[in-house]
Parts: sequence; C-alpha cells; structure tokens
Amino acid sequence: MLKIQSLSVSYGSRQILHEVSLDVQSGEVLALIGPNGAGKSTLVRAASGVIPYTGHVRTNGDDFAALEPIKRARYIATVPQAVSMPPAFTVWETVLLGRTPYLGFLGQPSQRDEEIARQSLQRVSALPFMDRRVGELSGGEQQRILLARALCQSTPILLLDEPTAHLDLQYQVSLLELVTELAHKDNLAVLIALHDLNLAAHYADRIALMVAGNIKALGKPKEVLISELIAEAYCLPVQVVQHPFLDAPLVLTGEVKT
Ligand code: ADP
Ligand code: MG
Repeated sequence: MLKIQSLSVSYGSRQILHEVSLDVQSGEVLALIGPNGAGKSTLVRAASGVIPYTGHVRTNGDDFAALEPIKRARYIATVPQAVSMPPAFTVWETVLLGRTPYLGFLGQPSQRDEEIARQSLQRVSALPFMDRRVGELSGGEQQRILLARALCQSTPILLLDEPTAHLDLQYQVSLLELVTELAHKDNLAVLIALHDLNLAAHYADRIALMVAGNIKALGKPKEVLISELIAEAYCLPVQVVQHPFLDAPLVLTGEVKT
C-alpha cells in the first residue's frame, strides 16, 4: 500500500537518508526502530511530504509527489513527533481540522464530518474533553488529540512518529492496541517509529532497524531483534531472550555476569 523507493534526504550538504526502500502493506504495523539520529523522523517527514526528498513515495501506483497536497492528505495521515497545535483551539475544532481534505467550497463540515470527528475522539477516549482548549491539556492528552485528528482524515495509510513518548504506561498500551486494531481490523497500513524495542517486539508485525540513514535489518520481530544486531546498532551490550509469556522477543540491556 505504501511503497517507499530509494528515498534520500539531505539537510544542506549532509545526507541523512541513503536510498531507503520500504513497503508497508495494508493490514500491517511496521515499526521503525533505531538509535537517536538514525533518521526515523526524517523518513516519516519525507514520506508524509513535508520535507523535500529524492526517490519515490507511492501508493497503488500514484506518486505522492505528483498529487496536490489535499489529495495526498486523503491517503496519508501523520502523527508527528513534536508538534504544537494552536493552543486556543478547542479539542473539537482541532480534531475537525482532520476533515479539511474533504470539505467543500465553503469549508463547512457536514453532519458526516462531525460524526467521523466524534468517532475519532471516542477511539482515543478523548470525548470527555472535547470542549477544552488544546493549550490546557497535558502532553499525553495532546498526543491522543493528534492521533484523533489523524484518524479523522480517514486515510488508508497512517504514519506515527514516537506517539507514545508522552504517555504513561496505561495509555502507551491502549494507544498501541488501537494502532494494531487500525491495521488488523480496519486494514490500514501503519508505519510507526518507536524507541521502545519491547513495545515494537510486542505490537509490530514487522520491524525495520535503521542505523545512520540506512535500513540495517527488516523482518519479523524475532528476525530483527537479535542480540548482535541490536548491540551493534545501539553500541550497547544487550541480551535478547524469549518473553516469559508472550510469543515475542524481549530485549534486556546489560552483560551476562559470569
Ligand atoms: P531520529 O528520528 O531517528 O532520532 P532524525 O530523523 O530526527 O532521527 O534525525 C536524523 C539526523 O538528521 C540527525 O543527525 C539530525 O541531527 C539531523 N536533522 C534532523 N532534522 C534536521 C534539520 N531540520 N536540519 C538539519 N539536520 C537535521
Ligand atoms: Mg525522531
């Protein structure tokens, strides 16, 4: 569904992404992991079309670079890493912005737009604070509103950049459960940058390990979360063991004492 081909990005004379290719299928969660500065956010930003790149980002044969922004916004919704929303807007107004790609000439949301906005708020458990101003919410609540706004776009592709960063444990889990439901039940193609390897191990169908702007490994969690690979990528001694009760690897830091 999402086809990234030979994607390169440079900031000035510094090349950050080196011909990265990656496919994300409808119905799967693909987690992007890798140390700080590896280029995860750059990949998400390029794929969502907010920074210039060379290479191709396509869906079903359509090249996103050739689409008007409003059409692209019907295909791809993004939850960016660090973003400020207009603080004086209410939660409701903010989430309704997700319907912008569908509004008619006068820009008035229809009943259906409002219904979709309400469902999106419901899915992130944020209906109770729909009338509050975004500036008055906690970081975690704002993160959920960003996700609701992206869901409101009703796109087949969802990109998320470390969406659990400000969330406590309970909301990390409920957000990732929602994300897997969006892929597995609603058939979205989901690309999610995650810094927590064990959350990636638990929730991702496939994992791409990125180091210095290249994909170093790509496959099922068990194929990518391998002690040697992770130790080398993160420059840290790690041990990967079988999770005691999940069918997933578990990454532990530290060396085995003998
Ligand atoms: P990650 O999300 O994996 O931590 P990023 O994609 O944010 O990594 O960053 C990759 C590299 O690009 C880093 O070396 C970072 O310093 C650099 N970088 C990111 N954004 C910019 C920018 N706007 N201008 C210049 N360099 C940047
Ligand atoms: Mg990042």
